[in-house]
Order: sequence, then structure tokens, then C-alpha cells
Amino acid sequence: MRVITGIVGIAALVLLIACRSQLSLSPTDQTGDAVSPAGPDVDDPYAAEREKLVREGITAWGIEDQAVIDVMCRVPRHVFVPDEYLNQAYANHPLPIGYGQTISQPYIVAMMTEALDLEPDDVVLEVGAGSGYQAAVLAELVRQVYTIEIIEALAEQAEQQLTALGYDNIEVIHADGYYGLEDRAPFDAIIVTAAPDHVPPPLQSQLADGGKLVIPVGPVGGYQELWLIERHGDTFTTSSLGGVRFVPLTRDVRGE
Ligand code: SAH
Repeated sequence: MRVITGIVGIAALVLLIACRSQLSLSPTDQTGDAVSPAGPDVDDPYAAEREKLVREGITAWGIEDQAVIDVMCRVPRHVFVPDEYLNQAYANHPLPIGYGQTISQPYIVAMMTEALDLEPDDVVLEVGAGSGYQAAVLAELVRQVYTIEIIEALAEQAEQQLTALGYDNIEVIHADGYYGLEDRAPFDAIIVTAAPDHVPPPLQSQLADGGKLVIPVGPVGGYQELWLIERHGDTFTTSSLGGVRFVPLTRDVRGE
């Protein structure tokens, strides 16, 4: 009887706790292979808030890929958020990061990452580094991430933050991401976190065979459709992941 009560108790605990690290498993225990940095080593007073966000806004909203859930449990969103918004770092909505830009909503980060269906050996391109948060999430799952940012100050900030956290598999590039990154192509996955009004042809052509592109497309200031585009040889299939709202993809490379 006592054994059964114990088993029921453990099952209830597992159901209540979304982040397995809260059960004292190491990141390597959770994922099997240690692919990239086993989670940044930071002072983390936000673990409980992050766990609550993952439970209420990631798994409860339908994210099922365990590797993605584990990464959302590990990556410290609060270090990518400006000080004045620290108290909202684990709220499930976007936040301003300066220069009229935003760090994406955590659920959207998880949903787009899940849609890319990543493998540990993948090379990924992100357009729109912003704070660097999405790049950190990707870098925990794959071999190499290239992330392009058009605003120089944000590119520098993201680069500094990601280096400080110990990510050595992310390269931040200050450029117009519309053109992708020809000299590092092809990419197993491309994720665009700013919205153009059409799919940039260079991004499609830089997708590897079997690769996936996730991109919001729509008018400036309005809602966009989030598209998943998959390449099979010279054929591209497109499916909708729903309505989203991103900042626009701009075309003028701004320096300071
Ligand atoms: N992925 C980011 C969210 C960034 S918001 C994060 O996790 O924080 C979108 C970003 O795309 C902004 O920083 C904006 O400056 C950038 N951006 C807009 N147009 C761009 C372009 N043509 N090339 C590269 N970055 C662009």
C-alpha cells in the first residue's frame, strides 16, 4: 500500500513539474547526448518562474517535443530582457528590447523551434537576432547557429550576451538578413523572426534538401501568417502554422 502511495505521489509530482531539472536531473540526463552547452551557468533566482511559464504557457499550450521543453526550462530569458522589464521576464508575451524591437513571446519561440524539427548535427540560420534569446534556444539543440541582425547596437549586445553565457556555437552577423548568408549555406533550418511581405528568394534557395524554413509573412503593422516551408529537391511545400504578429523585416542596415 505504501509503495502504491509512493508511486502515485511521484507521478503527481512529475505532472506538476514541467521542468525535469527541478527533479534534480542534470541536462545530460534529460537529453541523452550533450550536444552543445549543457545550459548556461548563471545565477538563477528565476528557476521557479521559468518552470511555471513552461508548465502554463508552453506544455499546456501544446508544445510536445521534449527536447524543446527541456531547453525552454534551461535558457534564462531574464538575462536577455532589459532591467526595467525583469519582473515580466517570464510572462508569456513579447517585451521591448530598445530600437523599436521586441524579444519574442516564449510560446512563439518554442512553437517555431518545434516546427523546425531539429537534429543535433544541424546548422541553422536565424534572421533577426534581436536580444539573442531565440539563438540561445536554437544553440542548445544544434551544432551551429548563424544569426543576422540589421541594427548594429542590437547585434553587438546579443553577441556580448551570448558570449558571456558561454555559447561558442553561435555567430552573430550585422547585415540585412533578406539575403541570408550565402557563404555558409545550405542550412538545415532557417527561422525568420521579423516579418517581410514576401518570402525572400535567397532564403528559400539557401535551404538544404529536406530543410525547413519558418517565416511570418504579411503586411507591416498587421497580423501575419506563419509559414512552414519545406524543401524537397527543387519542390517547396508550404503549410500555415497560424496567425502571428512580428516586427517588420526592414531593409536598411543601420550603424551607430
Ligand atoms: N529573435 C529575437 C526577436 C527579434 S525581433 C529574440 O529572440 O529576441 C526581430 C529583429 O529582427 C529585430 O531585432 C530587428 O532589428 C531585426 N530585423 C529586422 N529586419 C531585419 C533584416 N532585414 N535583417 C536582419 N535583422 C532584421
